[in-house]
Amino acid sequence: MSHLINPDRPLIVGPEVPAQPYPYPISGTVVKGYGRGSKELGIPTANLSEDALQMMCSEFTTGVYYGWAQIGEVNSKVYPMVMSLGWNPYYKNEKRSAEVHIIHEFPEDFYGTSIRVIVLGYIRPEQNYPSLDALIRDIRTDVEVAKHSLKRSHYDEIRHHDLFTKQ
Ligand code: ADP
Ligand code: MG
Repeated sequence: MSHLINPDRPLIVGPEVPAQPYPYPISGTVVKGYGRGSKELGIPTANLSEDALQMMCSEFTTGVYYGWAQIGEVNSKVYPMVMSLGWNPYYKNEKRSAEVHIIHEFPEDFYGTSIRVIVLGYIRPEQNYPSLDALIRDIRTDVEVAKHSLKRSHYDEIRHHDLFTKQ
């Protein structure tokens, strides 16, 4: 299996300065997901609670987004993240779900902890994949896109946003 990134995709997406509706802050708690085995793929996704989902205006289209995330205490470390917004199979696809993959290796799970996310841009629509390998390759690419896109100064400075620093 090869998990190389997709060479056809640009590594930087979005304008030099985040524009409406970004930066978009969301906060909630990490809930148990549907157990689709994200962790087994090496890409665990922290599923956001219903209150957090409701903060996301209904115009947010399904797809993959990038931004910053923080778990636990305010003022703790802020990490890059990719978020997938989709339909929740557990609720027969009548409810949306938001899953955040934080780009950091954590020593343990953090179900039930608070999570704060600032969405800064849209990466791509949801897609069906011909193989698991193709899916993983695109998610790995999303991770690189997030890292590169967030290095730009107007994106980097959002790590110090009030959401992450004020109670
Ligand atoms: P679930 O279906 O319950 O969401 P996952 O396989 O997607 O299960 O794993 C998600 C859980 O893994 C998160 O709720 C969190 O507790 C833990 N986790 C560990 N590392 C990360 C990470 N880097 N990003 C997101 N979640 C992580
Ligand atoms: Mg998950």
